[in-house]
Amino acid sequence: MSKITDTARLLLSIRKEGITDQKILSAFEAIPRHLFVPKVFSDQAYDDIPVPIACDQTVSQPSLVAFMINALEVGERMKVLEIGTGSGYQTAVLSLLCRRIYSIERHRLLELDAVKRFTALDLANISSTTGDGWLGWPKQAPFSRIIVSAAVAQVPQILLDHMADGGIMVIPIGETGKDQVLYRFRKCGNEFEQERLIQVHFLPLVLGLP
Ligand code: SAH
Repeated sequence: MSKITDTARLLLSIRKEGITDQKILSAFEAIPRHLFVPKVFSDQAYDDIPVPIACDQTVSQPSLVAFMINALEVGERMKVLEIGTGSGYQTAVLSLLCRRIYSIERHRLLELDAVKRFTALDLANISSTTGDGWLGWPKQAPFSRIIVSAAVAQVPQILLDHMADGGIMVIPIGETGKDQVLYRFRKCGNEFEQERLIQVHFLPLVLGLP
């Protein structure tokens, strides 16, 4: 199947999720997902499914990535923090929608592979690091937007502290293998509004480095 057809198929899955924001659709169109999955899964790169990557992790299914990005209400002047770089696919898409994205991954190997992809695609507004997302990125805080790609039993206080006033965080909450819910937090002054979005299944946000 040609790349154009593949991309069109991917965009259709995202539209089916109810995402019609042209900027978001264009960002997905611009990032070739096959570069973010292992070669053995190249054939499935544009299917709406999660794909295994190194270190026993997965790249989330594109429609879920799109749902999360849409829920994040990201703007082009915003500074974004992402926890769980993984393959870097979501990072790459987000980089086209914000001013700068800071991404933390606990596996050095995944982070290094992701950086190679960012360089190959000439994505210059991404800062990434190998580290523990539970500790946030204090030197760069506050952030207008925070997106977490692994599930927590409870929201890390440091990430709430990292949110700018008016900021939004999208984060899956719940134990692994059990029902998890994707939440959206909005910071208004000293208050946090929380909204349940959808049920999800994520791997856990693991404490510490491997
Ligand atoms: N959004 C990614 C998929 C993320 S999978 C993509 O598009 O490919 C979740 C990632 O979170 C995994 O790579 C895992 O290693 C990472 N992770 C888990 N616990 C972490 C922690 N404490 N700090 C940083 N990254 C963590």
